[in-house]
Amino acid sequence: MSASPPAWLEAGVGHVWRPYCQMKTAPAPLPVARTHGTRIVLEDGRELVDGIASWWTACHGYNHPHIADAVRRQLDLAPHVMFGGLAHEPAYRLAARLAALLPGDLNHAFFAESGSVAVEIAMKMALQYWINRGVAGRTRFLAFLGGYHGDTLATMTVCDPEEGMHSLFAGVLPGQIMAALPVDDVSHAALDAQLAAQAGDIAAILVEPLVQGAGGMLFHDPEVLRRLRALADKHDILLIFDEIFTGFGRTGTLFAMQAAGIEPDIVTLSKALTGGTLPLSAAIASTRVFEAFWSDDPGAALMHGPTYMGNPLACAAANASLDLFEDGAWIANVARLSAGLAQGLEPCRALPGVVDVRVKGAIGVVEFAQAVDTGGLCARFAEQGAWIRPMGKVVYLTPALTMDDDDLALLTGVMLRVLGAGA
Ligand SMILES: *Cc1c(COP(=O)(O)O)cnc(C)c1O
Repeated sequence: MSASPPAWLEAGVGHVWRPYCQMKTAPAPLPVARTHGTRIVLEDGRELVDGIASWWTACHGYNHPHIADAVRRQLDLAPHVMFGGLAHEPAYRLAARLAALLPGDLNHAFFAESGSVAVEIAMKMALQYWINRGVAGRTRFLAFLGGYHGDTLATMTVCDPEEGMHSLFAGVLPGQIMAALPVDDVSHAALDAQLAAQAGDIAAILVEPLVQGAGGMLFHDPEVLRRLRALADKHDILLIFDEIFTGFGRTGTLFAMQAAGIEPDIVTLSKALTGGTLPLSAAIASTRVFEAFWSDDPGAALMHGPTYMGNPLACAAANASLDLFEDGAWIANVARLSAGLAQGLEPCRALPGVVDVRVKGAIGVVEFAQAVDTGGLCARFAEQGAWIRPMGKVVYLTPALTMDDDDLALLTGVMLRVLGAGA
């Protein structure tokens, strides 16, 4: 930990704005030299086992040769061309493959570069769906306590008002309708009543299926999603699933919606879409939504088009990542990781301040009664060879789906030791 920082860090530190960070008081970021497999190699030569898969993106581990080769080939062919008026194989192939993988008729992919922007596009699609159908007044969204959908202005309005990191902007941004998830008959009846009263104002219901990620790794049952589908149908409201975190195997099925056997009207994907290689996201609409835009009227078109829309390098990475899911080996891997996480984290339940230990798919969570010291804990985890970055009250592991048992045991062992010495 004492090696002097590299010159590039010293030269840039006064110029880079870091994410979610009070830069004046936060510990310095760890300088990274390279990555491989499930490891992050620091400039001083130390290797950290990555417990987070770089914010849930690197699902096959870092530098996967199949993805790297695909990106290299595409780099020589065409790194980028505009998507307006031009088409290329990586994006068209990816859209067709995603449509085939997703259940139901989620068949129409709109590509963007980040998760937040995909959610913005899904929200815009939902608003315009009603406008195009000649229905006025459907201007608001219903979202859930504990939810997180991004950091841009519109997505901030559908995050949990307290936990969603955006409470500073309450009053500045338009208020959406916040509800509790229908986890039981009482909350189900309450949501039903709320929708009966306000359906005429609501364009769509927005939810992260099965796991509310950044809002605290909160789990709910597939039954909640079936209730939401039924309520959306009953009150004629669109349903948007934000699978940016849950998509691509994380919860045990390729998409979380498959555990519930129902489909939303629009789904958003990003994070693991390119296997953590390049930024890419998609808002994918069902036929019902798409058909509201399919018209002889130019005014009914979705007027949206990010500059780097459908970037060929990112789409090539995503296609290669999908290839790696094809043999189905990830299913046994997620089950293996799930068992390893449950066994390895169970002893944390006895630690002071811990209120819950829970595992779903390849997500392992230790929750504390109070927010933990993220910076301090990160440093202590790193001293023991693990990259783990707590979030509010939760210390969690979301390893690459390919992580081996030894690396997983290292992570759970480090968590138990460090948390045992005080969070
Ligand atoms: C990360 C995340 C987002 C935002 O994605 P960005 O790429 O960070 O903009 C939105 N929704 C969910 C569920 C996420 O986990």
